Amino acid sequence: MLVLSRKRDEEVVIGDSIIVGIVDIRGDKVRLGIQAPRDVPVHRREVAEQIGGNVPERQFKRGQFCPDCGKRVIECRCSNADAVARKAVAR
Ligand SMILES: [Zn+2]
Repeated sequence: MLVLSRKRDEEVVIGDSIIVGIVDIRGDKVRLGIQAPRDVPVHRREVAEQIGGNVPERQFKRGQFCPDCGKRVIECRCSNADAVARKAVAR
């Protein structure tokens, strides 16, 4: 999983047809604006799971830590991020 930092009003472009924008940040909540083609379903994960969508598996679970540097996997900057995700341990 690629992890990026963005500020309010900044965007991430995925491929040549999907834009994810940071609309607002309040406390621990982030409001996203998502522009995607009509044939690309966009759901909150919990909704996608409920309606039986094809939900991709996360490369790592929340709360896992890198065994090499000890940081949360989401913050780890180790050189081989994929291997780190596979080795990550829960605490
Ligand atoms: Zn690490």
